[in-house]
Amino acid sequence: MVKEFGELVVQEALALLNRLPPILTTQMITLEGIEAVTRQLTPIFGQTLAQGWTRKTMQIREPSTPHCLKCAMTMRKVDYRSITKLGMLGTYQWRRAYYVCPAGDGGLAPPDALLALGRQRFTTAVAQAVTAFAATLRFDQIPPLINTLVDLELDGDTIRRVVERVGNVAEADEQATITALTAEAARPEGAEAEATQPGTAGPVAAQPESQPGAHRLPALAPDALVVSVDGAMAPFRAGHTYHEVKVAVCRPLQRVSPTPTASAASVWQPLQESGYCLGVEPRPAFWARVRAHALQHGLASPTCTLVILLGDGADWIWRDADEYLGKLGSLIIKILDIFHAREHLWAYARSYFDTEIACKAWAEPLNDLLDTDRPGPILAAITTSIHRFPGG
Ligand SMILES: [Zn+2]
Repeated sequence: MVKEFGELVVQEALALLNRLPPILTTQMITLEGIEAVTRQLTPIFGQTLAQGWTRKTMQIREPSTPHCLKCAMTMRKVDYRSITKLGMLGTYQWRRAYYVCPAGDGGLAPPDALLALGRQRFTTAVAQAVTAFAATLRFDQIPPLINTLVDLELDGDTIRRVVERVGNVAEADEQATITALTAEAARPEGAEAEATQPGTAGPVAAQPESQPGAHRLPALAPDALVVSVDGAMAPFRAGHTYHEVKVAVCRPLQRVSPTPTASAASVWQPLQESGYCLGVEPRPAFWARVRAHALQHGLASPTCTLVILLGDGADWIWRDADEYLGKLGSLIIKILDIFHAREHLWAYARSYFDTEIACKAWAEPLNDLLDTDRPGPILAAITTSIHRFPGG
């Protein structure tokens, strides 16, 4: 195989050289020119090579006549059909034999399975690159960036299809994790202790065969877990519609023995980096996701006796947190985070005062006091304002 591949490389390189316009060589004087010309040639050569070797592989390893997967009858070759894939080196196209079942059970092309072509129009490498960009950019911003790396004909719509496909796989995986972790956490305490204790049955041996290891509760033993939950409106499909995206961030904390000189703030230390999850779904489904996420960050550990919930004070967060994050013998402290406290302060001021000047004069000192004096002065000021205009 290596010899044949080598022969193909030489053959295609010579063919490319013969096709080169002579003008190109005159540009290859400075490094910039040499790089530009070489860069122009590389994808052409790569595309030809990838496509050529795939075709060759189909010939070398051509499977014998297939049998129908349903009725086991020998299938009949009907014609050659073409297939197109978008890869990192360009568009690849081949023709391969297509077979049908004589009993009418449908048809297939044996090389598809042989080469693991999959059903999608893109290679995995393209999907990975596009998805990595899509994590931070709008779909229509991605094609020009991809084109600085490879010569790929993509548009925003194509990008969206790739990302949605990858996202669907990731989401299915997360849902499987949620189901498995929820079941795992609901197991009787004895069984759970045995499974999570190192050196006994062992996590691998105790694991049901159908579940990947990632679905197991972690061997993480935090003393506390900080869970921050929020909702934000996000544009969907290039800004046509807005939907609420709910987000939760989990951070497991460890209590460390304070030294005589240590400040109180150093008593807690993060056990690991924060992790986040998000969903565009009704609240119960999202809470199930948050719970699974919290379980992955050590919520079920017997050491975890404190959950600190950070939020904007929204009713659905405050009301439902106990059901999904609470457990026997643990305490939930709900804290309105300072950023949302400021938001609420200004919203109250704007609804109360008619002019921006009056609003600022009242809210600004309270906004500053929040850093040092916490909510006390704000609550006092609000009480006074309500008393001034009863029912207002
Ligand atoms: Zn059949």
